[in-house]
Amino acid sequence: MTQERDEIAVVGAGLAGCLLACFLARRGHRVALYERRPDPRAGTTERGRSINLALSERGLDALRRIGLDEQVMVDALPMRGRMVHPVVGEPGFQSYSVSGDRAINSISRGALNNALLAAADKLPGVRIAFDHRLVGLDPAAGTMTFETPRGTVTAGAQVVLGTDGAGSAVRGQLLEHGLLTESVDFLDYGYKELTIPPLGGEFALDPGALHIWPRGTSMMIALPNPDRSFTCTLFWPTHGTTSFASLGSPAAIERHFAQHYPDLLPLAPDLVDDYQHNPVGVLGTVRCDPWQVDGRVGLLGDAAHAIVPFYGQGANCAFEDVVELDRCLDECADDWSTALPLFQQRRQDNAEAIARMALANFVEMRDKVASPVFRTRKRIEHA
Ligand code: FAD
Repeated sequence: MTQERDEIAVVGAGLAGCLLACFLARRGHRVALYERRPDPRAGTTERGRSINLALSERGLDALRRIGLDEQVMVDALPMRGRMVHPVVGEPGFQSYSVSGDRAINSISRGALNNALLAAADKLPGVRIAFDHRLVGLDPAAGTMTFETPRGTVTAGAQVVLGTDGAGSAVRGQLLEHGLLTESVDFLDYGYKELTIPPLGGEFALDPGALHIWPRGTSMMIALPNPDRSFTCTLFWPTHGTTSFASLGSPAAIERHFAQHYPDLLPLAPDLVDDYQHNPVGVLGTVRCDPWQVDGRVGLLGDAAHAIVPFYGQGANCAFEDVVELDRCLDECADDWSTALPLFQQRRQDNAEAIARMALANFVEMRDKVASPVFRTRKRIEHA
């Protein structure tokens, strides 16, 4: 029988936090999982978060380890390459692999989060507290302060793990206590989601590809959803004469899309409404050091290393963090004071590498995939 261990607080029941709770409970830890939002399984959704995401083998490996891969993959849509949409002419397909059978998977973020939440909720060692927003942390004592609909509450834990995303309050508290340094580099680009609904009950575009409209100073991508719609994400500067703010009227929005994304217009009947009402999300790279303090407080996922989304690897990377921490706990016999520094040592360079690759891929996606030189190089690589 597994020995019952100390209570661990995991702050943030997003993708990383729920997966982490599952892994820790399997190790015999008692886990308190705190989330600022209400239970998303009750149907509440946050507008402006990406609706779907690309899950690759790195993320799938983590799900496989808790037996959740098959359930999650039931609704996955494999994308075997990029479909590049020029301004004039037919779209062109670029396979992700020489054999053509390797794919990344379009997954609903909400469904993935709910599946992970349900998996954590089922485990006897996990207690989930929704509507708990962390607003204070005493890192030495492990005492946390939460704002809840019933007022302020405090709770304690032997170890506090922050999986509360790019704007992490746990990281903010460590910063306030002078226990870490951080840099947050915002991109001068934001993103806005638009929808291509099903056309006559079918996908309006090929669902086996990730669609890209590279336009130099801007770019749009589209990923398929199980309901046969596509979610488009338009990346564009946040300020300046060619930016989100520059399109002030329905006519200006239609003119702009007719000029730069002519094949999208007939497929997106709610384009103007989406454009006017969907928020512009910010994009940035978070770096901090250290990722842990005295083996008592640690950071994982976006809380430690948020990246821009152009490689589609942020969530995959957060899942890999959880697998690596589990491995470190194995090797350190669940001694947090050695496991957390070892975890940082093994993951920090990898996180930095993907952060740089993600920034570099933005230039490739918005520009180079459309260039004849790039297409030739890709053909040679795939030959
Ligand atoms: P999050 O998913 O942000 O979860 C954090 C959780 O903490 C949330 O539930 C939040 O409500 C909660 N929380 C926040 N503050 C508090 C608080 N004070 N107290 C309590 N709880 C709190 N990644 C991919 O792998 N593939 C993709 O295709 C992809 N596409 C993306 C597209 C876009 C436009 C963006 C912006 C990101 C994309 N990502 C993608 C990145 C991915 O979304 C993140 O890397 C991933 O969500 C990180 O998971 P996380 O659990 O660390 O953080």
